[in-house]
Amino acid sequence: MPIYEYRCEQPGCGRHGERFEKLQRMADPDAPCPACGHPAVRLLSAPSVAMGQAHTLKEKHFSERGFTQYKRLGKGVYEKTAGKGPAIISDPGD
Ligand SMILES: [Zn+2]
Repeated sequence: MPIYEYRCEQPGCGRHGERFEKLQRMADPDAPCPACGHPAVRLLSAPSVAMGQAHTLKEKHFSERGFTQYKRLGKGVYEKTAGKGPAIISDPGD
């Protein structure tokens, strides 16, 4: 499934103007903002490189070589530890 990037444009929302990412099928309706629940605007750009988290040297090495590394958090949920892409991937599965 592709990952879509959205931005909440609801005035007064605590996450107004912030981007978030959603893993969904192309046929799915646009995702609502996770903070206010209003329909968010789907962005056409590729998902941005996320977050200024400190990585270990090993993970930085991964990233510099163009790899993206994910750590499995649970069933169908993965957290990015290095590289480009969304910070969290969750897949409800088949
Ligand atoms: Zn919102």
